[in-house]
Amino acid sequence: MNRQYQDARNQLIDSLRKRGIVNEHVLQAMLNVPREQFVSKPFKQRAYEDVALPIDKHQTISQPFTVARMTELLEIKPGDSILEIGTGSGYQAAILAEMGVKVFTIERHFELYNEARRVLKDLYPDKPIQSRFGDGTIGWAEFAPFQGIIVTAGAPEIPESLLKQLAIGGHCIIPVGNERSQVMHCIIREDEQSFADYPLEDVSFVPLIGKQGWSGDQ
Ligand code: SAM
Repeated sequence: MNRQYQDARNQLIDSLRKRGIVNEHVLQAMLNVPREQFVSKPFKQRAYEDVALPIDKHQTISQPFTVARMTELLEIKPGDSILEIGTGSGYQAAILAEMGVKVFTIERHFELYNEARRVLKDLYPDKPIQSRFGDGTIGWAEFAPFQGIIVTAGAPEIPESLLKQLAIGGHCIIPVGNERSQVMHCIIREDEQSFADYPLEDVSFVPLIGKQGWSGDQ
């Protein structure tokens, strides 16, 4: 493994710890996943900066701190089924897989779906990662319920379908707001009918586009 990337990755994990990420399983997963494999050539040297970077189709690979924070909020246990909406580069899916969960990830851009699937298959041929091309706002009913749902794009409101597919006790982590800025929400399903909704920090994500998201063709 390239020593230069390894050193940069160690430094990034130290900085995440300093910024308040405490879950050692999350930090270990981020130490194991080579983020440089999920960004395009011109950005490889910047793979371990704590910033979002551009990927194809005017989308982004999320900032490492945000990935760590959202993953921590999921409160994952090995063996859980986790649904991710917005595969993008596949980096978040790789972090989830490293944590020993079954990953179901959906992407609405065919090119991104295809490339992420290729990278994930190359790096993790034996991990349980299922990718789907389509509109994630309607979830993936066939594999529900999910112990965790993570939405990595900003929604105008919480998609009803996703709440229906959340297991009792499960966490749904989703940015909700307008097309430029949102508030991160952690929603916990308490029982069949009731959900506790915890609004957290301000964030800024690309829009969630689909039937139960924004309309548009970005
Ligand atoms: N999780 C990604 C990663 O690790 O690289 C970052 C995702 S990027 C911030 C958001 C992604 O959500 C984009 O790739 C975008 O195309 C996708 N997206 C937006 N609306 C979607 C929808 N309705 N269904 C599936 N993917 C969607």
